[in-house]
Amino acid sequence: MGLQGPKTKEWFDRAQKSLVLGVSSQFRYWGAEDTLVIERGEGPYIWDMDGNRYIDYRLGFGPVILGHGDPDVAASVAEAAAAGTTFALTQQREVEAAETFRKAVPWVEHLRFSNTGTEVTMHAVRLARGYTGREVVVKFEGQYHGVHDYVMFSTAGGSPTSLGSPYDPVPLQSSSGIPEAIRGLIRTLPFNDLEAVERLFRSEGGSIAAIIVEPMLGNCFGLMPVDGFLPGLRRICDEYGSVLIFDEVKTGFRLALGGAQEYFGVTPDLGTFAKAMGNGFPVAAVAGRGPVIEALQPGKIAQAGTYSGNGVAVAAAKATIDHLLTGEPLARIEKAGRTLMDGITGVLGDRGIAHHITGVPAMFSIFLADEAPTDFRDTAGHDAELYEAIGMAMIRRGVFPEVDGLEPYFLCAALSDEDVTTTLTVFEEAVAEATS
Ligand code: PMP
Repeated sequence: MGLQGPKTKEWFDRAQKSLVLGVSSQFRYWGAEDTLVIERGEGPYIWDMDGNRYIDYRLGFGPVILGHGDPDVAASVAEAAAAGTTFALTQQREVEAAETFRKAVPWVEHLRFSNTGTEVTMHAVRLARGYTGREVVVKFEGQYHGVHDYVMFSTAGGSPTSLGSPYDPVPLQSSSGIPEAIRGLIRTLPFNDLEAVERLFRSEGGSIAAIIVEPMLGNCFGLMPVDGFLPGLRRICDEYGSVLIFDEVKTGFRLALGGAQEYFGVTPDLGTFAKAMGNGFPVAAVAGRGPVIEALQPGKIAQAGTYSGNGVAVAAAKATIDHLLTGEPLARIEKAGRTLMDGITGVLGDRGIAHHITGVPAMFSIFLADEAPTDFRDTAGHDAELYEAIGMAMIRRGVFPEVDGLEPYFLCAALSDEDVTTTLTVFEEAVAEATS
């Protein structure tokens, strides 16, 4: 039996008449009987069209850091919407939001607002190329930087067993429709393999514009960088005059207030932010320090966007970041996340299921295998079938993780102690069901 109740099914049938496969983003399609239609969200909960309530650990793949429909964010957004949103001129709310952003992420000297993660990684890549006069970009296997052509290679959705030798990695194209010429401009490497990065730079460092990296693998089990990896990337970029881009779309305002830069103590030239900075509203930023970000100049390197810095988006960002600046939301998330990680490892340990809890409390994953993974290639050993069976059994009991283990559990500050306890009870029942 699928996840859809009768009303949800009715709405999904209706959705399919207008939206391709009934969705607006490919990752939301779970097949004919399991794709849900959501009526609303509040705090840590979402409700489907049949009135089933779920504790939400997907949170739109990360953005909803405070909880769905946070009242302060909603009020700021309503006020901004009524004041007019789009002027093709700088507006007061935008200046205030940029100042608040910099208070939270002090390494950033300048930024430009935009709307989505895809847009800002695209801008960062162009900026790096324009600044260095070079074309090649390095990315890591299992990382996702959005849907533009330049970064759709060796993403975590593909096969971890078809990536070639780590000495000569094969960039796996993640979609049809990407021009063949683009492939020549990307180099894909295993995450955490500093030697591979050094080898590549020794042979072609002079033509590499940038390394773009999710400082932890937010799209692949939340895998963490090994000691020395991020400082090594910083050193190599400095040595070869390449730009270091931290894609903080998932880690920004979640891993720490100042994102991965604060958490790991390594400072990139450019950072890309979206998701948690707007609690679910479409707001993003390409940010940086020094001459690289300042190279955005008319007639030199282009950046633009009709909706960039619109009143609603920046009002959402300011209200969200103001709340995060109190320190309370991330402290709450840390505590709830620790309890969940400990509880989950306890349940799996008691049943003798080989596992590793990866990531951090604010975004952690459950990896089901003996060997701890350090990169995307290692994830081939994960028991995806058992993981999905546990996830589906949880959803049927009102707790909603992503059933593809690549995507971490995301936590929001609205999660109560009772929600955490319920989650652990449900997890235990789901494991029992999936292994019976
Ligand atoms: N970068 C990272 C690290 C992401 O996780 C994502 C989305 N999951 C993106 C970029 C793209 O963001 P968007 O979906 O807003 O275009």
